[in-house]
Amino acid sequence: MNNNENTIKKFDDYVAHSYGRYPLAMKSGQNRQCIDENNMKYIDLGSGIGCNCLGYCDEQWADAVCTQVRTLQHTSNYYYTEVQAEFAEKLCKSTGYESVFFGNSGAEANECAIKTARKYSFDKYGKGRHNIITLVNSFHGRTMATLSATGQDVFHNYFFPFLEGFINVEANNTDDLKAKLDDTVCAVMLEYVQGEGGVIALDQEFVDAVFELCAEKDILVIADEVQTGIGRTGKLLAGEWYGKKADITTLAKGIAGGIPMGACLFSSKTKDVLTAGTHGSTFGGNPIACAGGIVVIDRITGGDFLDEVNKKASYIKTKLEESSAVKSLSGKGLMIGITLSDESKKAADIAKKAFEKGLLVLTAKEKVRLLPPLNITYDELNDGIKILIEILEE
Ligand SMILES: *Cc1c(COP(=O)(O)O)cnc(C)c1O
Repeated sequence: MNNNENTIKKFDDYVAHSYGRYPLAMKSGQNRQCIDENNMKYIDLGSGIGCNCLGYCDEQWADAVCTQVRTLQHTSNYYYTEVQAEFAEKLCKSTGYESVFFGNSGAEANECAIKTARKYSFDKYGKGRHNIITLVNSFHGRTMATLSATGQDVFHNYFFPFLEGFINVEANNTDDLKAKLDDTVCAVMLEYVQGEGGVIALDQEFVDAVFELCAEKDILVIADEVQTGIGRTGKLLAGEWYGKKADITTLAKGIAGGIPMGACLFSSKTKDVLTAGTHGSTFGGNPIACAGGIVVIDRITGGDFLDEVNKKASYIKTKLEESSAVKSLSGKGLMIGITLSDESKKAADIAKKAFEKGLLVLTAKEKVRLLPPLNITYDELNDGIKILIEILEE
């Protein structure tokens, strides 16, 4: 019998049917490969949607996490822990931010950003300045507020009423932005590279306009770097590519190397907005997650790690561009969108074929999307890209 079947049946029976899944029951992982219950190996160019940024069960990371599990697994935020203090300091010093609020996911990090923006404005200007501009085609999460913020109509079904106070502006359309940036607005929220929306980097001119117009009117800029942050694009934060530092930046996905964690970073302007009792999270800043996060941040900011990420990014780009099946590439660093020359080919079908051949890739809209582990080796890349190109050229 196919060993996967037992696990899959239990999911059918007992796990909510909210995901379309591949028939793959993952058993273990090592480096950039995982193994399913039939002992089939897969090269993973998706890294659990960018979360396993150091690959599977990195030794140094696993040691730090296991040591923390045996030392102190959790305490409430009524108390201090050294591990949270250390991670907060490292995160702030390496990103140039002043303070951080820890949650457990990207959506929570964005909820925190939304609340902070509204309170910043309320404290300074009183009621009525609560609207947040988000971009068409954005993705900010699945909770009610972040879903309301998400600028894609496909997500705005079933769950009415959505939260008020979000206005969509077309990405890279400065006129649209200007028209909507009135005195009801407290913040503009953006992804420098829209991830779920199709791996689309914003234009420099548009980002410049956002920051300039917002600065004039004391409107906050919130950068949702849940996907682009923590080295994914070849800089610690993608904002660095644009020469920008948002008033609030949110992180999650890769932040703790595959342990649930989200973070909301505050600049000097926003660091004192949240006061005792105004926000909280029971698990936020969990010691195990922080222990994993410390290893991640040390590794990514150490030595020539990010240079290597950029080298590998251009290496993949060159390899893919050699194939006539690839029409164009998008994204930044190791956040890569592939548009296929043959428009009749569907990204989802490519991903399925890849999976059958031992390669895991993601999709975003009509594109094949790659989010390889940041420390992937050239050998692993070569193996993965070879399979992918074979499938694309079939
Ligand atoms: C994944 C993602 C989120 C949501 O993160 P969760 O951890 O699933 O809540 C929010 N924003 C962006 C840009 C993302 O890519």
